Amino acid sequence: MRVIEEPAQARAALQTLARPIGFVPTMGALHAGHLRLIETARQQCGACVVSLFVNPLQFGPNEDYERYPRDLEHDRQKLEASGVDVLFAPQSEVMYTQNFSTTVSAGEIGERYEGAIRPGHFDGVTTVVAKLLNIVQPDVLYLGQKDAQQAVILTKLVRELNFAAEVRIVETVREADGLALSSRNAYLSPSERAAAPSLHVALNVMLTELQNGAETDRARARGLAMLDPSAQLDYLDLVDAHTFQPLPALRAPAFLIGAAKFGRTRLIDNLWVRA
Ligand code: AMP
Repeated sequence: MRVIEEPAQARAALQTLARPIGFVPTMGALHAGHLRLIETARQQCGACVVSLFVNPLQFGPNEDYERYPRDLEHDRQKLEASGVDVLFAPQSEVMYTQNFSTTVSAGEIGERYEGAIRPGHFDGVTTVVAKLLNIVQPDVLYLGQKDAQQAVILTKLVRELNFAAEVRIVETVREADGLALSSRNAYLSPSERAAAPSLHVALNVMLTELQNGAETDRARARGLAMLDPSAQLDYLDLVDAHTFQPLPALRAPAFLIGAAKFGRTRLIDNLWVRA
């Protein structure tokens, strides 16, 4: 596996790779969810490129940028063992040179749900992914369903700004008790870890209610009853899978989305109701 830190080096190295090139952008602290994306890319593509970059632009001033888990050496070993061809791991100063000021806006969809709670977050995501797509120039971009709103926004980015990549969304990998794998799960205390799967339970109960004909408000109330009392809910809702507009009742394709804090740790999860 080649490890590259500079965009110019990346372009040169990538020209030698077998096509199609599958690309998996990450912020590191790799877990089995990331590895599933890589495994899928390796199965479907001639070469697999992974980026590892904790993007300062997508963190708010009071968020966990500083304490976000970083373990480059461990991650490098996992990527090497997974058969990744190229790891692009730039320093922040390389990605954001002095006086950097050009950004890509995620638009209105980036202001709902995660975007309402984390202002500017999705503009940080669209900006860094636009940069990464220009540097790596992949044929296929692999994204996790775990971050559903991000996946929808990035699918729009690729289409609307005419990037040549095709987007493929990979199903969420979960712990045995249903908790979606996340780098932030490492922050959970034992009691918070025990409470955290209740977010997934709440989403599942809400889905069953909707499938039995309940309207969203009633289904949400049933779901909420399943959430651990220690959790602080941000939202639990049913949204259109393309626009992230709230839906009053089930109409596929849709996402059931949820976000809650367990102690200081904010977790998100979703279920995808396909058309
Ligand atoms: P991150 O490092 O959190 O930015 O995630 C990098 C990619 O991995 C994103 O496309 C995520 O949606 C995806 N991802 C994160 N957690 C999971 C999971 N549990 N299952 C599948 N994909 C995931």
